[in-house]
Amino acid sequence: MRRFDPAEFGRMLARLTPQELRQAEALFVDARKRAEAVLEIDARADADGPAASCPRCGGDARTRWGRTRTSAQRWHCSECGATWSGRSGTPLARVHRPAWWLRWRVT
Ligand SMILES: [Zn+2]
Repeated sequence: MRRFDPAEFGRMLARLTPQELRQAEALFVDARKRAEAVLEIDARADADGPAASCPRCGGDARTRWGRTRTSAQRWHCSECGATWSGRSGTPLARVHRPAWWLRWRVT
């Protein structure tokens, strides 16, 4: 099953009343903010971010190491073998639905 089918989504939107469309717009804004917040947390592991170095040994030699189950970039320390992501050490570290968690926390 496709996760998102734009044509089907467009047909669904075409059936909505103006008031329902306004409600949908508010949901879109909220969903976009949550998705952007998750990206911001993931960016902690960017080159000059606070999570760019190995959290175990502090080493800077790292390689990309696939992705976590929730699609965050995972890193591998070339010195000690530890793996981490930008979410490690944050409340999002073991959350399986980060956007849902943020909604629950923020609203
Ligand atoms: Zn290390």
